[in-house]
Amino acid sequence: MTANGSFVRQSAEPVDRFMRYEKLFIGGEWVVPEDGGLLESIDPSTGQPWAVAAYGGKKDIDRAVAAARAAFEGSWGRMPGHERAALMRRFADLYQKHAAELAVVESRDNGRALRESRVDVGGHHNSYHWFASLCDKQGGRTIPLDDGVHAFTSRVPLGVVGAITPWNVPLMAACWKLGPALAAGCTVVLKPAELTPVSSLELARLFEEAGFPAGVVNVVPGYGRDGAGDHLVTHPGVDKITFTGEGATAREILKRGSDTLKRFTFELGGKAPHILFADADLDQALNAATGSAWALCGQSCALGSRVLVERSVYAKVAEEFARRAAKVRVGSPLDEATHMGPQASQQQLDKTLSYIGLGRDEGARLIAGGSRIDRDGLKGGYFVEPTVFADVANDMRIAREEIFGPVAALIPFDGEDEAVALANDTSYGLTAGLWTRDIGRAHRTAARIRAGVVWVNTYRYLRWSIPYGGFKASGWERENGIEALDPYLDTRATVISTTGQFPDAYAQ
Ligand code: NDP
Repeated sequence: MTANGSFVRQSAEPVDRFMRYEKLFIGGEWVVPEDGGLLESIDPSTGQPWAVAAYGGKKDIDRAVAAARAAFEGSWGRMPGHERAALMRRFADLYQKHAAELAVVESRDNGRALRESRVDVGGHHNSYHWFASLCDKQGGRTIPLDDGVHAFTSRVPLGVVGAITPWNVPLMAACWKLGPALAAGCTVVLKPAELTPVSSLELARLFEEAGFPAGVVNVVPGYGRDGAGDHLVTHPGVDKITFTGEGATAREILKRGSDTLKRFTFELGGKAPHILFADADLDQALNAATGSAWALCGQSCALGSRVLVERSVYAKVAEEFARRAAKVRVGSPLDEATHMGPQASQQQLDKTLSYIGLGRDEGARLIAGGSRIDRDGLKGGYFVEPTVFADVANDMRIAREEIFGPVAALIPFDGEDEAVALANDTSYGLTAGLWTRDIGRAHRTAARIRAGVVWVNTYRYLRWSIPYGGFKASGWERENGIEALDPYLDTRATVISTTGQFPDAYAQ
């Protein structure tokens, strides 16, 4: 039971096979959807529903936005930074306490192997703590003028934020948005993806338990296009949208939100180059390159899906990729032994399989995987083999488009210039990796790559303190790092005359 006596989960055990989350979290209360309803959340490892969750309609979003506005103009807006920080720390401690359960919920909702969810979710409290520490450190600056005028800037929160999150990493995406938004002093309406509504509702329980004022964080699962998501985007009461997902969706959101001239942060896709120079420690490089090709069953924007390999070690790398692909244990996400779970949805499975077919048709050489897994024990789930294509050309669609499946494309290159040219020959620019023992080459190459994050002799090293975000079609603004606060703040310049004298423009 929650602090105010209402239930989120109606039972700790499934009822009629399902976990039930029948209410939305709006204005600090658990409420029945007004014009939404209930949706089933599918367990992608079985293809069967595992939970029933509330979703909100337009009226529910209206209620949530009104609650967020009232909190912004009320107690939250007036709360000193150090008090907001204390609340965020309390929340972070609760998050840490419940991280193991949250990881299970996330894995059930989106099929991510529990061993991965646990590591990811198990670190989020650090991020919330880190952003808590920024709550009272948003000073402005004084502007040197003459004696008669004093001018200074203040950093002020933007207001009500609509946070729209994807299904691949619902809790991480929420964390990356809520941390800076709350630290800046904004209030939030969080809309998770329709495929993965449950973990965000669990998150709401923790905000309630931490004692956040009503309306500071509201959680309204719902449909994106033509539903809660679109209503948030077009809502005149929402000052900013922060969105993670597909580029095509971002473009639609931008158009739909343009009438209200709200602000946007976009964290979009990637087709990251992972460059393996011949002088690298190949064993370590292969650990990173294979790990990052198949993590999250390939469903992450940061993965090194284009593996650029210097020609002299290309055959060896290809052989190792195929050998290691065969070692990946694909299975039920909750099984401790499982390395890789299923794709998150039937739609995503179909998309991956169609790209595998495309790779074959385009003439790439399939050296591992390539099929759906439908063996006993995994029947009905959206499982696919870890897949490797060799001899991929950078103009093939499997090298240009985001597949979001466990499909690595190996591309040979000769020398530094070609590596950089191939790395940058993409519409994306989110992340990149490179492996070399030559410190000069590391710096030279990293500096020439057009991407928001470049990893050298490591990969997918993510921290709350390191800015994350994309160049080119991979997004706008940054999440994580001190830079993540900027998109949630506005600047007010205050100019004060110390004399109070103002000339009469019409005196002569
Ligand atoms: P989307 O970009 O469509 O969905 C992401 C979020 O946006 C969801 O909450 C979704 O709601 C919502 N949404 C969708 N359309 C709108 C809209 N018009 N207005 C407001 N909100 C909207 O991703 P998909 O789930 O359709 O996945 C498709 C592809 O996107 C994947 O195959 C992958 O390539 C890419 N992707 C990239 C991610 C990344 O981290 N860069 C994350 C997820 C997907 P709803 O769930 O109801 O559609």
